[in-house]
Amino acid sequence: MSEPIPVVVCGAAGRMGRLLLALAREDAGLRVAGAVEAPGHAAVGRDAGEVAGGARLGVPVVTELGPICRAEQVVIDFTVPAATLAHARVASERGAALVVGTTGLDAGEDRELRTLAARTRAVIAANFSAGVTVLAELVAQAARLLDPSFEAEIVELHHHGKKDAPSGTALALGRAVAAARGQDFTRAGVLQRAGLVGARRPEEIGVVALRGGDVVGDHTVVFAGLGERLELVHRAQSRDCLARGALRAARWVAARPPGVYSMRDVLGL
Ligand code: NAD
Repeated sequence: MSEPIPVVVCGAAGRMGRLLLALAREDAGLRVAGAVEAPGHAAVGRDAGEVAGGARLGVPVVTELGPICRAEQVVIDFTVPAATLAHARVASERGAALVVGTTGLDAGEDRELRTLAARTRAVIAANFSAGVTVLAELVAQAARLLDPSFEAEIVELHHHGKKDAPSGTALALGRAVAAARGQDFTRAGVLQRAGLVGARRPEEIGVVALRGGDVVGDHTVVFAGLGERLELVHRAQSRDCLARGALRAARWVAARPPGVYSMRDVLGL
């Protein structure tokens, strides 16, 4: 069997980071080679295995990716946009592969991330679940098959701790509808409706964010026609599907040629 692929988890003590560490240690194809957290975080200096709620891994949580990053590693980042860009800079300089799940990047940050990522090999996805990746395919197909009188609206529901809204996945689904219908989502997307907004313009793609409890992530795409509507729904029951997808992406991207890839590429769709 080939050597396990070394992975470095950035955002190690976060909800996704802890899960990634716990699942990576059980994966014979992977080895936890590093763990990075924000300066001042209580997890810094502790053992990454213990931070993930298990036995020691012999890997300390550090604050800087630079000193531990090597070309043969896959850096997995689920943090915040500024940290993601800093980590992508280090990974692209070293030639380490990247798996980025952080959402909430603005257009400029997203451009910068993709420029850095293109210098190495990277999978960037707003949602690493196989189900959501297939949902996006089905949504694009429905948007093409249904005439534009079926008006597309997107509803997402996430836990009360989520920082960005609407979710990166909801925006990606909006872009999938727009692309399938030859629209520009930056114009067609309507992320807020309040007050006397008037009648819905036919080209609008509305996106609504709900927040509450410990909901991992639900996404519904509604195509509302006259007298009927089609709804495509995905519900994540636990974060495991997201972490497993990210680890699958890490195994997949390690030996790819330079480029920026999506979960569609990882699943071979
Ligand atoms: P979280 O807040 O629980 O974890 C983020 C962690 O990043 C925190 O522990 C924080 O201290 C750490 N961090 C901040 N700055 C850092 C730095 N400079 N260096 C290292 N670590 C740093 O959030 P979460 O729920 O784990 O989500 C993290 C991000 O991933 C969010 O943007 C979220 O939307 C996104 N997310 C994406 C997917 C996906 O499938 N793409 C799935 C879940 C979450």
